[in-house]
Amino acid sequence: MLARYFDIDTPINSTAGIKEFKALAVELIDEENSATYNQAIMEFGALQCKPQNPLCETCPLSNSCLALKNNRISLLPVKLKKAKIKKRYFNYLVFLSEDNETVLEQRLGKGIWEGLYQFPLLESKSLIDAEAVLAESNLVAEEIDDLPKISLFNDTPIIHKLSHQHIYTRFWILENTEFNRKPIPLSKIQEYPVPVLISNFINEFQLSEY
Ligand code: SF4
Repeated sequence: MLARYFDIDTPINSTAGIKEFKALAVELIDEENSATYNQAIMEFGALQCKPQNPLCETCPLSNSCLALKNNRISLLPVKLKKAKIKKRYFNYLVFLSEDNETVLEQRLGKGIWEGLYQFPLLESKSLIDAEAVLAESNLVAEEIDDLPKISLFNDTPIIHKLSHQHIYTRFWILENTEFNRKPIPLSKIQEYPVPVLISNFINEFQLSEY
């Protein structure tokens, strides 16, 4: 209602908008009858200056309403659309050979964590089980002769929150595996630049019984 009456196009749900409209409301409030004033403003917004189809023709403020004067009723109030948060499911494959070696690969292309290292990644559409990890991982099918012993390091996914996506991450340990890629001794993995998520895993993993 204030956005229309004063013809203000600052988005009402932005940080600047919340501040601006709060300051305006404080300036306008009838301090002696603040509760009645607030109730009246709310009712005016619900019954007269409705979000859709405000009743301007019968509005007692129509002579002084700036949005009506400037023909901008349908454009106000401005509201920012909330970005939809995308859920992603990352399965990191932590290979372990009998010689205590593993595989790391560099993230290529644009996107999060570009250029950093990670364990081979299998992204899935939801949380998946060990069977699906083995079945869906081309890496397993192409590079390893015998199916490895597979176990889940963290049953509860680690949720890494970024501005437009939440990444549900689980680490799978694949033991006694052979792989065609250049192996990296486990003792050296901390020398590689990795995302914090993986660095935290490495610290926990090194304290575990594997
Ligand atoms: S004239 Fe219309 S837009 Fe302006 S305050 Fe009244 S109902 Fe709202």
